[in-house]
Amino acid sequence: MMLPERFEECLSFAKRLREEVACSISLQPLYHGFGSPSLKGRFHYDDEQDEIMKSFRGRESEKRLPEPRGYMVAVNQAGEEEKKAVFDLLVEQKTNFTGWQCNAGIENIIVMFSGEIHRAWCMQGGMIGHISDDNLFLPERPMVCQTTICQCGADICSTKIKVDTVQIPIMMV
Ligand code: SF4
Repeated sequence: MMLPERFEECLSFAKRLREEVACSISLQPLYHGFGSPSLKGRFHYDDEQDEIMKSFRGRESEKRLPEPRGYMVAVNQAGEEEKKAVFDLLVEQKTNFTGWQCNAGIENIIVMFSGEIHRAWCMQGGMIGHISDDNLFLPERPMVCQTTICQCGADICSTKIKVDTVQIPIMMV
């Protein structure tokens, strides 16, 4: 996670890590209000930093490892599919799904330390239950996204469908 004032330090560590370990590495941009439901926009990164975050990758492992979580298939208006990682959408700043139908709460939920259950880390829709409830009535219908930044990987992974004239689903694989 690339705190701008420690960008060089994080980058230097990532480079050292890549030399020593064959694994995927992502340099993730951060948002003001990270960890809270009210994100207020991306931290400022200059063009060079932005390019480094977009292009930096880890090192392929020679072992046959299962694919990491966070991959999905994006389907465009022409019906063409493209495999994407959560990280790709984040660095390309393609995580504004305002007005899209979102399956968070149907495909995934989050449980906070307090035991509160929400559909997603964006907290949209409020609390939907508590871990100590005898009966849970979890959502069965998607919600319409009203948040301009979908920032958490788990949130981004739930299926989203653009519902205007043409549907553009993004789906987990
Ligand atoms: S798209 Fe992301 S921000 Fe919007 S409702 Fe779904 S999980 Fe929340």
